Amino acid sequence: MRIFKLIIVLTLFISCKKNQEKNVVTQSKQNVSNTYLERVEPPNWFIGFKNSRLQLLVKENGIGAATPIISYPGVRITKVHKAKSNNYLFIDVEIDANTQPGTFDIVFTQKNQPEKRHTYELKARKTSATNFKGFDSSDAIYLITPDRFANADATNDINTKLKEQIIDRSHGYKRHGGDIKGITNHLDYIKDLGFTAIWPTPVLINDMPEGSYHGYAMTDFYKVDPRFGSLEEYKNLSKELAKRGMKLIMDQVANHCGLEHWWMKDLPFKDWINYQAYYEKNKENWSWKTVKNSSHRRTTNQDLYAANIDRKENNEGWFVAAMPDLNQRNPFMANYIIQNSIWWIETLELGGIRQDTYPYPDKTFMANWVNAIMKEYPNFSIVGEEWSYNPLLIGYWQKGAKNKDAYQSNLKSTMDFAMQQHVVDALNEKESWDKGLVKIYEGLANDFHYASPKDIMIFPDNHDKSRIYTQLKENAVHTKMALSMYAVLPRIFQMYYGTEILMDDTDNPGDHGLIRTDFPGGWEGDAVNAFTGKGLTKAQKDMQVFIKTLLNYRKNSMAIQKGKTIHFAPKNGVYFLFRVFEEETVVHILNKNEEAILIDLNRFEEMKLTGKALKNIFTNELINWNESMKLKSKGSLILTTKYDREKKN
Ligand code: CA
Repeated sequence: MRIFKLIIVLTLFISCKKNQEKNVVTQSKQNVSNTYLERVEPPNWFIGFKNSRLQLLVKENGIGAATPIISYPGVRITKVHKAKSNNYLFIDVEIDANTQPGTFDIVFTQKNQPEKRHTYELKARKTSATNFKGFDSSDAIYLITPDRFANADATNDINTKLKEQIIDRSHGYKRHGGDIKGITNHLDYIKDLGFTAIWPTPVLINDMPEGSYHGYAMTDFYKVDPRFGSLEEYKNLSKELAKRGMKLIMDQVANHCGLEHWWMKDLPFKDWINYQAYYEKNKENWSWKTVKNSSHRRTTNQDLYAANIDRKENNEGWFVAAMPDLNQRNPFMANYIIQNSIWWIETLELGGIRQDTYPYPDKTFMANWVNAIMKEYPNFSIVGEEWSYNPLLIGYWQKGAKNKDAYQSNLKSTMDFAMQQHVVDALNEKESWDKGLVKIYEGLANDFHYASPKDIMIFPDNHDKSRIYTQLKENAVHTKMALSMYAVLPRIFQMYYGTEILMDDTDNPGDHGLIRTDFPGGWEGDAVNAFTGKGLTKAQKDMQVFIKTLLNYRKNSMAIQKGKTIHFAPKNGVYFLFRVFEEETVVHILNKNEEAILIDLNRFEEMKLTGKALKNIFTNELINWNESMKLKSKGSLILTTKYDREKKN
């Protein structure tokens, strides 16, 4: 009896001591006497969502046996779900619309156990839901790999609490030290180039032993990687963008997490991840040899004849051995991912989400995920990555697509890998009946299939693909031609950082480390500085000016952003595409002829430009549109009817 009592006293003492220690930590951090469990997620929530339901994930040793109580006006627990692991609880909470912002304790009681408390905060929303305006065809998006762009804070380069502690700029797959502040410090440079939005690849924590500088192996969906900076710095990036009228797009991953994700040591349910039982049985010798990989047969999402096993192997297989595949059919996982996305939109005041590996998660879930977000933020934008060269597959995912299987994706934007490739082929191939510029002409003809072509994202290159300069065999003229072509298409325009200074991966085309080369000038002591122009070659400076002229023009051109598109079948190595909005006509000309060529303009009579003077946006030269036009050399040309007529230049 005495021994029993002693044990109880001791247990109480130890657990009080633990709580005290926790209090000391949180008090010193927050300077208030809040108490916290190991995890309650989302870490806070907001008042006034259309969906009044919140589902909290609670993680704490033995919490599964506890009963939670909330006493706060307008907030009530509607259901408590136990998980398979006793260290979790999932709590359904209903929040009335008129609930006041504030903090309260969630009290956990358990027989013969001391009470536990967790202080939770409901925050007021800073701005109305309709103010969250997503990107659209008026935007030009600068894609950045944060580790490789600029290192503003060398003190965060190595974090001794994390598994990977090496900085090696000479190694393509190791961390280089770039960070969020590095991006923030150079927003004026990005804005001057004419970009209106940035998409940094993920900056959430990847506490993986190696090779996670890219950010796609997240080990905590609510934590910024300290090597990239803090949540405050991430918020500040968004604020600084907003000051400049620019948007922040967050790269999110619903398909997988990193193998070192905190929940992998204690999975709440037996079906939290796909192939879970298999993983748990084999985890001791887990490697690329043992993992059940995705088959990457992405067409199974659309294929009317696909076997179930093939669908399963695409959707449920792991992306790679280091990235467990999340099971979005588990309703708690589904809620977790949706709430996580909403939490980030609200916390960072995002201007869009880029969703990774779109055809890999459960597609019914993805439609629900988009719907849940768009219901809360009707003017928001999401782009999903479907790496396909087939317009049928690209179009399938877009809102409004009339799909034979009746699938309603509701995604505003998809990615146009097909058109990206057509432009490259058009420039690399010698002109013939079915080669060269006709690739663009016929590729664009596929737009009849898309529900909304202008909401599809086009890009010369990205973090996974060869640099455009390399794709075009280091031909700077072709690179300019491609860039202007992409920028005037009825699309959202996106470009990878460094393309403006002709960055290449020619030494080993397609090598990820090389594609994601450090931006010169981002590191102290860099001999070349692309931000200031120091040490750049003439060709690099010339390309910076070209991009700047092109995108700053695009920024104010309604014709490019939302005009009608008319194009003429390429002839004699020349391709004309027109964009028209009200009084503004933009003419884009691709000319592949090395020698001067005279163009008979009578063919374009239907464009009603005869007798008008048009301005070349690159040279400011005025061109009279009459019988004919002489194209002096190979290259691209943008002419416009809209310019300040008082100003000759
Ligand atoms: Ca750093």
